[in-house]
Amino acid sequence: MMEAPIPVDDGARVASLRSMNLIATPAEPALDGITRLARRLAKAPMALVSVVDAERQWFLSRVGMEASEAPRRTSFCGHAIVQEEPFVIPDARLDVRFADNPVVTGPPFVRSYAGIPLRNGDGHAIGTLCVIDTRPRQFMDSVLDALTDLARLAEIGLENRRLGETQRQLVAELDEARREALLCPLTQAWNRRGFDLLYQREAAKAAREGVPLGLAVLDIDHFKRINDTHGHETGDRAIRLFAEILRGSLRPYDTLCRIGGEEFVALLPGVTETGLEAIGHKLLTAVRSQGLLPVDEHAPPPHRFTTSIGMVTVALAAAAGAAAQALALRRADEALYRAKSDGRDRLDLAPPVEG
Ligand code: GH3
Ligand code: MG
Ligand code: MG
Repeated sequence: MMEAPIPVDDGARVASLRSMNLIATPAEPALDGITRLARRLAKAPMALVSVVDAERQWFLSRVGMEASEAPRRTSFCGHAIVQEEPFVIPDARLDVRFADNPVVTGPPFVRSYAGIPLRNGDGHAIGTLCVIDTRPRQFMDSVLDALTDLARLAEIGLENRRLGETQRQLVAELDEARREALLCPLTQAWNRRGFDLLYQREAAKAAREGVPLGLAVLDIDHFKRINDTHGHETGDRAIRLFAEILRGSLRPYDTLCRIGGEEFVALLPGVTETGLEAIGHKLLTAVRSQGLLPVDEHAPPPHRFTTSIGMVTVALAAAAGAAAQALALRRADEALYRAKSDGRDRLDLAPPVEG
């Protein structure tokens, strides 16, 4: 196997990449749209936006791939970033550089690959937009051209992360290792600890700005049926899809956190009760229409799922502090419980938490 080469300017390249604060941050919905398009136009099962750090590659957006990162040494993207042109491997098993690569001989069983290098504003190749297939194949020039166009859009997405101010500040304050401890690797949403930190910051900001803070607790309906019928791995895929749908429907400055198995919290700054309900209905509709989980590629139909939502607003006078956080979460949880017992696939609004 030929390991991914290290370019001579790798130190400067890695420093430039790290200054962008992309690694160990929440997934970017704008990039999810690009990877979905890349996968569709290449008719490939997997597509990634990957950034190549010193030792590993980090997937900022992924479709069809479970892992959120991989070692650089054995990565195809590590080869792609030292090229100017699209890096194409039609059949990895026939290529001496890759035939015995562990990602070829083992999961995810890469057989063919096309990667377009992504450059940042300083001209460094920081990663790739790539498509991966588990079968040997050619990539037509027209597909590579379209992927190159998409790669240019991905570069814009990378330069302009649309993270809300609170999340951006937290990302900037913490190093990669500490950020990773606040993220859920399955969904690239913030985890419970991340939620605690971000709630306090978002509440303090809302109080400063004199706006209320909305909070939504979302839980997949009848999730146990997915696990029981299709297995735990499919259940995990449902959780990932759920997070992706929510992220795609929330506003860029909303915060998505996974606080339990298939339970998420969204922090929604600056919404009134009416606005909160409107967001809730939008989320219900999005999950209803996009919550289609492929369970067997040979035997459609997909498994459909819905969500129930409990929502609450926290008035600015009450917002900050652990007690207000606990009360808001408890009220939203009670509202979620009512939405479940009223028949699911609906939302319920709790009385606001006042000062
Ligand atoms: P309801 O509509 O009332 O929410 O019904 P439900 O079946 O979704 O019930 P509940 O929300 O209590 O289900 C949670 C289940 O999720 C229980 C647990 O086995 C499963 N679970 C928890 N964490 C994970 C996970 O990380 N992956 C998978 N696949 N399953 C998980
Ligand atoms: Mg559930
Ligand atoms: Mg649950």
